[in-house]
Amino acid sequence: MKNLLTVLVFLFSAPLFAQQKPNIVIILSDDHAYQSISAYGGKLMQTPNIDRIANEGAIFKKAYVTNSICGPSRAVILTGKYSHKNGFKDNTNPNFDGSQDVFVKRLKTAGYQTAWIGKWHLGTQPQGFDYWQIVPGQGQYYNPDFLTMDGGRKRIEGYATNIVEDLSEEWLDRRDTTKPFCLVIGHKSTHRTWLPDMPDYGRYDKVKFPLPKNFYDAYKTREAASLQDMSIDKTMLMGYDLKMLSYSPKGEPAVNRMNPDQRARFDAYYGPIEKDLKAKNLSGKALVEWKFQRYMSDYLSTAESLDRNIGRTLDYLDKKGLSKNTIVIYLSDQGFYTGEHGWFDKRFMYEESFRTPMVMRYPGVIKPGTQSEAMVMNLDIAPTILDAAGLPVPSEVQGRSFLPLLKDPNGKGRDAMYYHYYENGEHSVSPHFGIRTERYKLIRFYKKVEGWELFDLKKDPQEMKNIYGRRGTAEITSELKAKLNDLIRQYEDTEAEKLMLSAAGSK
Ligand code: CA
Repeated sequence: MKNLLTVLVFLFSAPLFAQQKPNIVIILSDDHAYQSISAYGGKLMQTPNIDRIANEGAIFKKAYVTNSICGPSRAVILTGKYSHKNGFKDNTNPNFDGSQDVFVKRLKTAGYQTAWIGKWHLGTQPQGFDYWQIVPGQGQYYNPDFLTMDGGRKRIEGYATNIVEDLSEEWLDRRDTTKPFCLVIGHKSTHRTWLPDMPDYGRYDKVKFPLPKNFYDAYKTREAASLQDMSIDKTMLMGYDLKMLSYSPKGEPAVNRMNPDQRARFDAYYGPIEKDLKAKNLSGKALVEWKFQRYMSDYLSTAESLDRNIGRTLDYLDKKGLSKNTIVIYLSDQGFYTGEHGWFDKRFMYEESFRTPMVMRYPGVIKPGTQSEAMVMNLDIAPTILDAAGLPVPSEVQGRSFLPLLKDPNGKGRDAMYYHYYENGEHSVSPHFGIRTERYKLIRFYKKVEGWELFDLKKDPQEMKNIYGRRGTAEITSELKAKLNDLIRQYEDTEAEKLMLSAAGSK
């Protein structure tokens, strides 16, 4: 009898449960390299909490961005449209038009409570959110300021990654529990200048990180790469980036805002490193490699706090009984260089910055331990979420839901991806657009550098040898150009279309 009752209760409650819309938590970090995530096979550090999302859901081995830079990536995520369609092409004029159709507005109309907490970096105030509390611009690691909905600005004592998690949990605590929710947790971590939380100082000091094989890249055959200003050798600053304060006579603003206790801990850690550096009197390769070791140590220590706070989010959902009906997506706004090509930073269509880490847990829909090799993009986040919420995807959205790919392991995703980077300024990276297929990548640079690059990713995964114009590549080049033209027309990128028709474009 008891069993029959259980069955009846199940039968009657199952349809109700099925209609219940899933909650959505998007954890969005900044500049987080997949090379530094253990779920991706990275050996640099362990990231147990990101790995947990992957193990309990899916890891996307081929997740990419449409434009590898902070603000524009967020605009793409919100709108499901390429930069030329959502209007936010680069960080030079960061003024996102929030009046456009963003997925959160549709969730809100469908009865969701929506919130964005933490790094926003879109210039204008968030629209479509019931609640927001964001850091101005890039934000600060220590005692960050926050902009509030009443037009105020307040400083919160502590470390940014912990505070953003605290604020997120506080919002979840006071939300209306009769409604589903969509929360974006926007972390500053692991953005420059990689200032670790106090307990993480020196966590990696005993590790000697191996130099990437192409650390001393001479950029032969790649003109745009030779002209960049984002190398550990020439661009990374001893004071600003590596906290050697004798190089910054006025001090560093990120450090100057610390309270006495924080400052004492900072000095106790970095002081002896600087003393040791002075005693060593390094130059040439020895100095560059010292910079690389220091960069990795600070970068990974900053990531340590990120992973720990992702763990707090997961624990919170467990504790409140929300895990089963909550989608959790973790991704970065783009990938990052951890010394490959001698670089830090992003922007290029080369793999380390074009790709982004992305893991997703969706109990009952995604089979735990799913490894997805489908080509997905940050462009697909908005339609995927609308799909999961059972809402129609507007026809103007250029991405597509990847839920069908997760339900059907044989489902075919896109066979090529389109990329367009616009910013022609800081870090001196030439604007470019291009296409990546399973095996090849074709890039067209313009403005700063005029020309093409072609890579065979099977033979040259590190993208060291541009084979554009080489004997034997004519057929694949024209095939890729035709495909590139198709994508440009499909996405209505008129600027790129004109460039394809220009002399250098058609060459
Ligand atoms: Ca970024």
